[in-house]
Amino acid sequence: MWVDAGARQRDAWIVVDLESIRHNARLLRAKLAPGVRMMACVKAYAYGHEPVETARALLAEGVEELCVATIEEGVLLRAAGIRAPILILGAFPCESAETLIANDLTVTVFAETHITALAKAGRALGLSPKVHLKVDTGMTRLGVRTEDELLDVAQLCISRGLFIAGIYTHFAFADEALDETFTDRQLAMFQNAVARLRAAGIDPGVVHAANSAGLLRSPSYHLDMVRPGIALYGYHPAPQWGQALALRPALSVYARIVRIADVPAGTSVGYGCAYTCAGASRIATLPLGYADGIPRAAGRGAQVDVGGRAAPIVGRVCMDQLMIDVTETDARVGDVVQVYGAALGCAGSLQATADVLETISYELLCRLSMRLPRVITHSVTD
Ligand SMILES: *Cc1c(COP(=O)(O)O)cnc(C)c1O
Repeated sequence: MWVDAGARQRDAWIVVDLESIRHNARLLRAKLAPGVRMMACVKAYAYGHEPVETARALLAEGVEELCVATIEEGVLLRAAGIRAPILILGAFPCESAETLIANDLTVTVFAETHITALAKAGRALGLSPKVHLKVDTGMTRLGVRTEDELLDVAQLCISRGLFIAGIYTHFAFADEALDETFTDRQLAMFQNAVARLRAAGIDPGVVHAANSAGLLRSPSYHLDMVRPGIALYGYHPAPQWGQALALRPALSVYARIVRIADVPAGTSVGYGCAYTCAGASRIATLPLGYADGIPRAAGRGAQVDVGGRAAPIVGRVCMDQLMIDVTETDARVGDVVQVYGAALGCAGSLQATADVLETISYELLCRLSMRLPRVITHSVTD
């Protein structure tokens, strides 16, 4: 499959270090009180890393549950033999209810149509569908909006034979250093809603809310279970408010220089002649581009690492190739360049590139396309 296969057929590839992911899981676990469960978020191909090996590494580290966004992502993990509980975070098309149940995927519910479809499919298969109820406390994305609605949905689940395995909400703060009062209001709304269910004699199952930001901010957000994503992959959800935790980015992107041109001042580079060399320059070509997930605008300030020296991406990134200025290096054709480095703070680190392109680590990670082979390692680097 796409793990490892093809790594020898392309001069551009991704290395995923599973030991770094395990290290991050241990760091996060150390922040939890005993008994608090961890549900690892492996959606979007484990944030671009590779979901099956990542999930196995996390489960080996004692992570209790997994979550993904789509049914396809859940089915892929089941097909690989992963048996841990898997929660689908997104809404699902009613036609897929049988697939969900047949694959023992836990479903997020907040509306009657979902419950009806699940109950029908459950009867057809002779199985009891597992659900987590979702409460919208401020994202305005998914979930019931009032306690009355929650009570109706929960009672409907029970009367239709669905098993309520959990209840959750999602915090709006993530990459922003948002004022905690908003999050505290979300938490209070959520806890009141859970209390209302309990008062009605309904067991809500596992109660959870915290993403990475919530996990790192305060134990008051941890509840019964946390749902970290980005921190497991080694990135702080809000790099501006803290690198105190020694998270270790797990992914690097490499490419070999396939050509170097020695050009005079005034030479233009790439589509639209968007870059012009100010002086005599050495322009190297790397065989990866925006079809591989490198943003087309990366020439506006992103750097790569060439043998320990920073080299800027110049001109517009093409679909399959990009150019870098290696004038200040002794780079040669065939040399390996680090396009996204794992080490924080180094030239060409994924976080540095996210910062200059005014985006977040999440987006650069998830954009890395299936075309780039993933090479999985288990190195112990400390
Ligand atoms: C993606 C996601 C998470 C993980 O968020 P991070 O910021 O990556 O930790 C948790 N919960 C839900 C509902 C999500 O969609």
